[in-house]
Amino acid sequence: MAHATDAGAGAPAGATPSGEALLDIQHLSITFPGSGGLLAGGRGPDVRAVVDASLHVDDRETVGLVGESGSGKTTMGKGVLRFVRASAGTIRLGAYDVTNFGRKVPRSYRREVQVVFQDPVASLNPSIIVGDLIGEPLKLHFGMGAAARRRRAAELLEQVGLAAHHLERYPYEFSGGQRQRIAVARALASEPQLIVLDEPVSALDVSTQSQVINLLEKLQGETGAAYLLIAHDLAVVRHVSRRIYVMYRSRIVEEGPADRVCEQPAHPYTELLLASIPDADPVKQRAQRALRQKLSVDQAAAVTGETPQQGCPFSNRCPYVMASCREQFPDWTAVQGGGQVACHLHTEGPTLAGGPVTSLSVPA
Ligand code: SF4
Repeated sequence: MAHATDAGAGAPAGATPSGEALLDIQHLSITFPGSGGLLAGGRGPDVRAVVDASLHVDDRETVGLVGESGSGKTTMGKGVLRFVRASAGTIRLGAYDVTNFGRKVPRSYRREVQVVFQDPVASLNPSIIVGDLIGEPLKLHFGMGAAARRRRAAELLEQVGLAAHHLERYPYEFSGGQRQRIAVARALASEPQLIVLDEPVSALDVSTQSQVINLLEKLQGETGAAYLLIAHDLAVVRHVSRRIYVMYRSRIVEEGPADRVCEQPAHPYTELLLASIPDADPVKQRAQRALRQKLSVDQAAAVTGETPQQGCPFSNRCPYVMASCREQFPDWTAVQGGGQVACHLHTEGPTLAGGPVTSLSVPA
């Protein structure tokens, strides 16, 4: 586990974005009203999907937001897209104060921020030919006529590795990877500054995944768009991200440069995510299995249990848990090598075997 340092202790992740921050999220919380039918006795408790989360994406940067299902990462992406409203905190993109938008989101903002979803089958209207799917944003945002739209749509298709003759086809005529290329071409059509990539390859087979990821990297070099890459698979996120934020049960718990987060994780949950990445080496496989078993001390609580109402959200699953972990969410502590972690192991000093926490050494 990476060393923590004193500098920056107490500062929330992302509180000090670089001067070039394109997207700047500060202390974002998103809460949904609880639901419950008559049988359930009326309205249930509110759902805190995102709690006090800060994150920034610089111009032309790829930032990964990783966490398991239900961690709140997709809701954060929806907040940036203004599909859902913030309950507290701020979201800014360049000069746009997203949290202060009224009922109607400015069309210019819709042009600047695009999204590619996990499932292109659901996101591409099956009854519209590809030429019109890509042409729609060209007409809406740039007022292009039919001939210009067709020319530009053909260019975009070629940019994503398809051909002009595909313009006349329907989405169902393509493979999953090809459909995702069409979705990317449609997102690029409006020349956005930021693309939210929400699990863009998780529905694809492994070889197609790497093709689409390589394509996204190539396109970023060509277009300069920044990416917020949301995924549950840390291996995918690491491959393309410059920095990574790790989210668990509505909270960001660690952030930092991709290499540091993946080679010297500071939060036990990040360790667990890393131990879930398949490795071809049998020795490493055994070590990962042991680590997973020790870190998933209470799988039932992890999967079905309530998120702890206070303290660290990982406290019902963490083998390092201390009394303070159940009482308050940890302060942010800067980590050697870059970034920050929210974990009492780093704010209360070394707790294991009387020495500094330098590698994951889960108590037996
Ligand atoms: Fe574990 Fe405590 Fe750190 Fe949470 S704060 S990850 S419970 S040691």
